[in-house]
Amino acid sequence: MSGRILIVDNVATNRIVLRAAMQAAQYTVDACTTPAQARASIAINRPDLILVNLSGVAAEETGFCTALKADPDTGGIAIIATGVPDTARARLAALDAGADEVLARPTHDALLLARIRSLLRARAATDELFLRDSTSRALGFHDSQSPFAAAGRVTLIAAPPSPWHDLTAVLNRGLDQPVQTRDACAALRDCDAADCPDLFIIPVASRESDTGALFSLVSDLRSRPETRLSCLLVVVPANAPDMAALFLDLGADDVVLHDALPAEMILRARTLVQRKQLHDRLRRNLRDGMQAAVTDPLTGLFNRRYVDHHLTRMSAQCTAAGRALAVMMIDIDHFKAINDRYGHAAGDRVLVAIAQRLRDNLRAVDLVARIGGEEFLIAMPRTTAEQAQGAANRLRRLINQTPFDLGEADGPTRVTISVGVALSGAAGPDQQDMVRMCDLADAALYRAKSGGRDRVAMETSIV
Ligand code: GH3
Ligand code: MG
Ligand code: MG
Repeated sequence: MSGRILIVDNVATNRIVLRAAMQAAQYTVDACTTPAQARASIAINRPDLILVNLSGVAAEETGFCTALKADPDTGGIAIIATGVPDTARARLAALDAGADEVLARPTHDALLLARIRSLLRARAATDELFLRDSTSRALGFHDSQSPFAAAGRVTLIAAPPSPWHDLTAVLNRGLDQPVQTRDACAALRDCDAADCPDLFIIPVASRESDTGALFSLVSDLRSRPETRLSCLLVVVPANAPDMAALFLDLGADDVVLHDALPAEMILRARTLVQRKQLHDRLRRNLRDGMQAAVTDPLTGLFNRRYVDHHLTRMSAQCTAAGRALAVMMIDIDHFKAINDRYGHAAGDRVLVAIAQRLRDNLRAVDLVARIGGEEFLIAMPRTTAEQAQGAANRLRRLINQTPFDLGEADGPTRVTISVGVALSGAAGPDQQDMVRMCDLADAALYRAKSGGRDRVAMETSIV
């Protein structure tokens, strides 16, 4: 994985050793001695990750990390604190100062590299989602989500009766919602993508415990569609850096030592829950934005932009299957008179109700779109001329036989539609002919109108 790493360390030997290790792993490396030099370096060559020596008591380095994280411009840069005394208290202090990860010296190379890969992966995922979000905002889609985060859903994976009473008590005290405890099979079996925990916590009992099964569990959770977006935090024994490194490379988002202080455990769990919820929100925004781009806000039907793309694909599928495609143009009769008589809002209600009737009475494969003020397009794949004519007449009756209740004193209002239908050849349309097919359906609609309205006209010339 490529990436740019900045080493900030006032000990020359440390810089040399780290630089060599990072370069051997194919990272681009900058190195400097003081936080002031680091700030200058960041301004010129923005790193993806910073390795900063926090071994001293110097408040300068600590303040440097805190300031970087607080600045929206640099807050996304991952920070690993190196040389921190190997105590739970020192680790927590470094995390509190803004480090994303803390490694004691002597640095365990495999764990350091696994940590770097894991942090860069997380950063790349976040950057990608923010990029898509900014694109969709630039296209005019706005954040439809409430900014208030829900309480995180956290599941502890342990076979009952769970031996993790202390851990459970710590999590229950520190998180907004009690953790659930599930055994591994239930966690895999009972999850569905819509209701999956934000975070799975997976404790490993000891170096001698059955880690093979837990390695498989982590890769399983990471790869299944229902759980792959959940964060995974593995609680590992002290003095097992190889195991920690392997868990990270298998897809764990974070590992924490058994002897971590409750505050560290909670800090890590909360950070992962927040990351998951941020990613969820960005994904939802994107999906809603895409949805908004191709749907008509009044009726919820697809819009013309969607029709242009979808018709091409539908016609290609029909041609591949050697089946005909039908296109219908529908226009409400004398709609202006409805507006004039009952008002624009009542006219809107008619549009919504007609859209609903059309949608409810077609197959799932049919395309229903609102392509103009009171004009709709329907495309029906794998459909013969007789079937298309039958469907068009059925829709016409569905509208004219049940008047629309506009809440008016003089009772429900009768509305009619005119329909023009064009058919492709029996072996499917030529893709280039889709515009022509729509034009022919339009011409048929015009004939239905001039023939008296409330009727269906078929275009007999085959495309
Ligand atoms: P025809 O039978 O020939 O189709 O007559 P018509 O009155 O339906 O057709 P015309 O094109 O003269 O008028 C269409 C009307 O549709 C005019 C316009 O105000 C109205 N309209 C277009 N979009 C909307 C909308 O979103 N809401 C409402 N309420 N009316 C709309
Ligand atoms: Mg019209
Ligand atoms: Mg009309």
